[in-house]
Parts: sequence; structure tokens; C-alpha cells
Amino acid sequence: MSDIADRLQEIRDRLTKSAERAGRKPEEVDLLAVSKTYPVETIHEAVDAGQILFGENRVQEVLLKQPQLPGKLQWHLIGPLQSNKVRKVLPLVQMIHAVDSVDIAKDINRIGGELGLHPKVLIEINVAAESSKHGFTPSAIRAQLDALYELDRLYIQGVMCIPPFDPVAEKSRRYFKMLREIRDELEKLGGAPLPVLSMGMSHDFEVAIEEGATIVRVGSAIFGARGK
Ligand SMILES: *Cc1c(COP(=O)(O)O)cnc(C)c1O
Repeated sequence: MSDIADRLQEIRDRLTKSAERAGRKPEEVDLLAVSKTYPVETIHEAVDAGQILFGENRVQEVLLKQPQLPGKLQWHLIGPLQSNKVRKVLPLVQMIHAVDSVDIAKDINRIGGELGLHPKVLIEINVAAESSKHGFTPSAIRAQLDALYELDRLYIQGVMCIPPFDPVAEKSRRYFKMLREIRDELEKLGGAPLPVLSMGMSHDFEVAIEEGATIVRVGSAIFGARGK
């Protein structure tokens, strides 16, 4: 087995254990392998080990890599999206994780309509209200949720967050809990289910699962340290 196959197996085992610790079914949690910056050969090793679901944070990388990999793979865009890239990326990805403004949501909605698609999206929440981070602050999303629900091509599936980085995984717990509580509140406010919670990365995905994550985004713990 390759190193990547070994590490994938280890992550899947840890995912299962954390789900069980929390009284959840492991099948409720999708492992999104974040392949940004890693070359296609490396991604192939993960595919050979059975991984289907991949995340990239730049449209350019999706465009470059996808044609060189099997068509059965599923791709999620996890980085911020600029309006001039929407038309290119919509047909290529199954989900957009980081809708961070009403303006970009409007663009995705309009172009989705033109392409005959119903894009699945997540609303990015800036859980710690950091000025350096993308996403709606909790108060901004309360005020703007209606404007998002007016966009009738969008399938708004849930929420995602990138908490302030702390190498100690337990330090992320309060932000994961906060995202879950905001999700619960938005479900009541909007009167629609938001089943997807995209939260947790290499260093804290187990805590995220304990707090309800349904997608964990794991890169370096599978593929090794990134060069940049
Ligand atoms: C890079 C990235 C990840 C994965 O980070 P790792 O620490 O390598 O697991 C997860 N989510 C987003 C939004 C990212 O940009």
C-alpha cells in the first residue's frame, strides 16, 4: 500500500471512531479529500485507495486537474469564488462550500439558470467574526437569509466555517458548536432544512464530527505537508 492509502485508511478509521463516540453513524460523515496544491499523480493514489470525493479551493486547479482524472470523481469547490469564474466552475463541481455574499449567490443563481443547473451551495459563516476572514457574520446572515432564499435556482444545503487556526483541536470545539447552533437558528428563521455542516480539517476533524459535522475537509493529513 502507498503512504497515501495508509493515511486515508487511518483517517477513515478515526472518522468512524469519532462518529461512534458521538453516537452517530459513520455514514453520516463524508470525507472530502482536499487535494489543493497536490499534483494529479498524488490524487491518483487516493483514487486507487477508493477515494471519490475531492475538494479544491481554486477554480483554475479544478480546470487543470479534472480532465486528467477519472470522470467518476466528485468535486467540491471550498475556496472563495469570484463572479468571473462562476460560469466555468458550475458544470464541474457538485457543491460550492463558501458562498460568502449575496452578490456571489446572485451570480451563481443567474448563471446556474442560464446553464440549466441547480447549484448546491453552503453558506460560509465567519464564526469568530474575524476581519481577515470571508463569510457572513452571524448577524449578517440573520439579516440576509431572506435575500438568499429568494434565489430560486440555488439548493442551499447548509453552512460551513473555517475557525481561527489553533493547533489544539479542542480550541475549535466552541466554533463548531457555534456553527451548529447558527444552523439550527437559520433553519427556524428560513423554514427550510440545512442538513450539511462542513467543518473540521486535518488537525481538528474529530472534534468537528463530535459536534455534528457531515463533511470534514481533510488535506495534509492524507496527502502530506503542502509545499506552499
Ligand atoms: C486547505 C483547506 C482545508 C484542508 O486543510 P488541511 O489542514 O490540509 O486539512 C480545508 N478547508 C479549506 C477551506 C481549505 O482551504
